[in-house]
Amino acid sequence: MSTALVTGGSRGIGRSIVEALHAAGYKVAFTYASNPDAAAELQTKLGENALAFQADVKDFDRAVEVIEAAKTALGPITVLVNNAGIRKDVSLARMTQDQWRDVIDTNLTGVFNYSRNVIGGMMRTGGSIVNVTSVSGVIGMAGQANYSASKAGVIGFTRALAKEVARFEVRVNAIAPGFIDTDMTSSMDEATRKKLYAGIPAGRAGTADEVAKLALYLASSDSAYVTGQVWNMDGGLS
Ligand code: NAP
Repeated sequence: MSTALVTGGSRGIGRSIVEALHAAGYKVAFTYASNPDAAAELQTKLGENALAFQADVKDFDRAVEVIEAAKTALGPITVLVNNAGIRKDVSLARMTQDQWRDVIDTNLTGVFNYSRNVIGGMMRTGGSIVNVTSVSGVIGMAGQANYSASKAGVIGFTRALAKEVARFEVRVNAIAPGFIDTDMTSSMDEATRKKLYAGIPAGRAGTADEVAKLALYLASSDSAYVTGQVWNMDGGLS
């Protein structure tokens, strides 16, 4: 039985990925930042072979601790899903240094922190890293210079690392979702939502479960010859 680690796995897309991996027979460790209730509820729901860890992805030393603890409890990690992410949308003219740093440190440095600390083990066992980037990192979005830069960074990281570790049978791919219905997007008012849907060729938002199915494929040996790719899942937006 393989072991997977999913960052930001307590809600939204990460939660769907945790559930899909668990249902497919993986042991799953997942992290969360600030909402212990959601994490505890998911861990209880899944029961055996699911383990939640409070850990801010920005914290390198905590990543080391979580990975060690997950390995001890569930075995060597052969799948890492770097999913945790935030957005702090504001025009560049009004963006503070904190809004810039927080988004870059969470979305991009968080991917470094977890990948850096699993890669040694994966180079011995083989494995798959799946990075959740965004359509914003592919085509750019107004009001998201910080977010788009962080997600474009994740794409560059994915392509570079894929070339570095392919010979160790470690694969690295990214998923670039468009507009997906989660807490991250629920604050949008109805008028804005309508306008947004009108710009999506598919005419609707995607679901976290749709993203999870792609993550499951990229995690599994079904995609054994696929690496260094960015999978747009955006209803045609990009
Ligand atoms: P969400 O519903 O807001 O859930 C975010 C998850 O990440 C939660 O489990 C949260 O834990 C965790 N998290 C947040 N900050 C963290 C940190 N510093 N350290 C560790 N965990 C942290 O978000 P989502 O919409 O599912 O988004 C998931 C990923 O998909 C993100 O990378 C996002 O950028 C990307 N994405 C989303 C969309 C979309 O339309 N929703 C589109 C494209 C890309 P707590 O609950 O404990 O805070």
